[in-house]
Amino acid sequence: MPGEVRGKIKALPKVLLHDHLDGGVRPKTVLELAQETGYDGLPVNDVQGLADWFRDSADSGSLVRYLETFAQTVGVMQTSDAIFRVASECAQDLAADGVVYAEVRYAPEQHLEQGLTLEQVIEAVNAGFRDGEARAAEAGHPIRVRALLTAMRHAAKSRDIAELAVRYRDQEVAGFDIAGAEAGYPPTRHLDAFEYLRRENAHFTIHAGEAFGLPSIWEAIQWCGAERLGHGVRIVDDIDLDAAGDAPTLGRLASFVRDRRIPLEMCPTSNIQTGAAESVAAHPITMLKDLRFRVTLNTDNRLMSDTSMSWEMQQLVDEAGWDLDDLRWVTINAMKSAFLPFEQRLDIIDTIIKPGYEAAARGALS
Ligand SMILES: [Zn+2]
Repeated sequence: MPGEVRGKIKALPKVLLHDHLDGGVRPKTVLELAQETGYDGLPVNDVQGLADWFRDSADSGSLVRYLETFAQTVGVMQTSDAIFRVASECAQDLAADGVVYAEVRYAPEQHLEQGLTLEQVIEAVNAGFRDGEARAAEAGHPIRVRALLTAMRHAAKSRDIAELAVRYRDQEVAGFDIAGAEAGYPPTRHLDAFEYLRRENAHFTIHAGEAFGLPSIWEAIQWCGAERLGHGVRIVDDIDLDAAGDAPTLGRLASFVRDRRIPLEMCPTSNIQTGAAESVAAHPITMLKDLRFRVTLNTDNRLMSDTSMSWEMQQLVDEAGWDLDDLRWVTINAMKSAFLPFEQRLDIIDTIIKPGYEAAARGALS
């Protein structure tokens, strides 16, 4: 279970732009799908033991052990039924946590081991999201969920995946992403895909500046044309905190990112696990917020990081001095940055987010 969250935060409307479908499977579902599909690779066979194993492996500081956790979730997501269930539960879990709009990403190419086509994977996820949305609405927690199709940095499928993102853009796929190890696999390897997407007026984000530094961010923005940055936390390397006077000095890249309002999909808990930050209190998200970068708050991998949007918010309140206005600001930032048509973004801000925070403000954050 994610850390305990006080009631008010859970009730706040939230927007999530960076969440991996295979990083957010319920432990119980991993276990049941393994039994149903005959998958025999699980390290332990009880729900709590499995939940602990995921978190401990992700916490271990070992990249090999961290990646192994995804091999397990992806391992049980190789049939249409399994993928449908995971997607439906994802939408329901996010809605129960107060998320009103989410973009959830996954790499279709990782779900082909038992013969599914890329199209079948995408259609199973879309159907699962629709089912989850309907169940969430019935439970009193309406949510809209869109998909981002991810291509793996080390692989050579990015153009195919980009074409699918365009083909399915009117069927709940909001955009495209690339993910995987940054070092050695610069985003410029996939220029063909990004140029195609730009010609098609399609949206995309790029995982950049997580563990790897400024060159990765620079390439993602200036060569590839990324609209948003997955993590982007290393942009702090271009900010001089020791400058004379009170205000930190921004280098040209950091200035560009702030001037152009390029959204940063920040994931504090995940960064602490991978060593990109030391603690929530010390995470650059608070400094970047204070400097008014277009900061958004995200979960990345809810299972491996044992987190939720509410828990990410709670930790910022408890450890980094955030208040209700900060949470409202970061939520509106995220909605402004979504790959959803403009009028739909405005509608969610005006009819859901602002009234939700006004109601919370009347009671003040505990
Ligand atoms: Zn990510």
